Amino acid sequence: MRTIYLDNNATTQVAPEVMEAMMPYFHDLFGNPSSMHSFGGQVAAKVRGAREQAAALIGCSPDEIIFTSCGTESDNAAIRSALTVQPDKRHIVTSRVEHPAVRALCADLAQRGYRVTELAVDATGHLDMEQYRESLTPDTAVASLMWANNETGVIFPVVRAAEMARERGILFHTDAVQAVGKIPIDLRKSVIDMLSISGHKLHAPKGIGILYVRKGTRFSPFLIGGHQEKGRRGGTENTPGVIALGKACELAARHMEEENTRVRQLRDRLESELLQRIPNSRVNGDTVSRLPNTSNISFEFVEGESILLMLNEYGICASSGSACTSGSLQPSHVLRAMGVPFTMAHGSIRFSLSIYNTDEEIDFVIEKLPPIIETLRKLSPYWSAGERACAAG
Ligand code: PLP
Repeated sequence: MRTIYLDNNATTQVAPEVMEAMMPYFHDLFGNPSSMHSFGGQVAAKVRGAREQAAALIGCSPDEIIFTSCGTESDNAAIRSALTVQPDKRHIVTSRVEHPAVRALCADLAQRGYRVTELAVDATGHLDMEQYRESLTPDTAVASLMWANNETGVIFPVVRAAEMARERGILFHTDAVQAVGKIPIDLRKSVIDMLSISGHKLHAPKGIGILYVRKGTRFSPFLIGGHQEKGRRGGTENTPGVIALGKACELAARHMEEENTRVRQLRDRLESELLQRIPNSRVNGDTVSRLPNTSNISFEFVEGESILLMLNEYGICASSGSACTSGSLQPSHVLRAMGVPFTMAHGSIRFSLSIYNTDEEIDFVIEKLPPIIETLRKLSPYWSAGERACAAG
């Protein structure tokens, strides 16, 4: 059975060009980039090249790139650093819809005596910027807001949010794990201090990430050890991963146009056809300020998990809530924060596309999903009650 992979916000396929670029660094070119000999030196040159490729994608200087092991490490390193370099400040501002890489860390910090403000979002998944402004106090060490939401794709105005933090002398970090490679980012046009990237979300392998730290930003390393990454992150570099991520960044820059035209069209077609064919369905989150590849749709009166299992029978991979929260039957914290009604939140499915998806794959999903929902609704006591209520007027 073929696989139709529509779960690219969970992880992506490593691009063939990326595989090709990284393979020699496992075997033939296995040198340590810190070694004095030229065998290691040639690897150091490739690491420098990857740093330049990554910097080009987000519009920064190569010196501002720190390679890490993943998005979670980057988020943790950024927030912990902001607290370490400003020991007198004890307040963190973040949102209710952040990924657990930020949210669980903030919850842990709250247990350790820090004050955490989790900003609410409205029904479209957006922040109240006035409330954000009011939350910034002289005691605030860092504001951390995601660039784009992993479940709904909703894009936060982080460039503006960073300016508001800067006006008050507050460090600003953004988790851009879902945004990088999907929408243009130019850090020269912003005052964002720190930004997190994860390789496996943009067709590089798992186990490699980036933390961008703006030149001049005080920084305290999370991993203390050797002098790698100019003393900002100890540990021998994951050289195949670094080279892979550099290549993936180069490809992402090249594919940005396709991401924003062809992928967007595929997503929009999938979404509008499903909404048209399936009654009591709706899109969660703002449909305008949104990543081009993501669609989060609720099908009322059915369980998201049951839909996933039936889609799986056809080789269709999607997600209910984020991959990290699936496995629990609680509706996702993002949909709850948006106030999505219980009967809708439970039946929500996230489709997240990539440049590797085709028209035929989308046709297949459009054909298979409506009868799945119909079958499940026939089994649902809530649906029958709802139908009876409708019939009764
Ligand atoms: N931040 C966001 C918005 C994510 O979607 C994810 C992964 O799903 C992460 C952080 C964590 O990234 P990683 O899996 O590289 O640790």
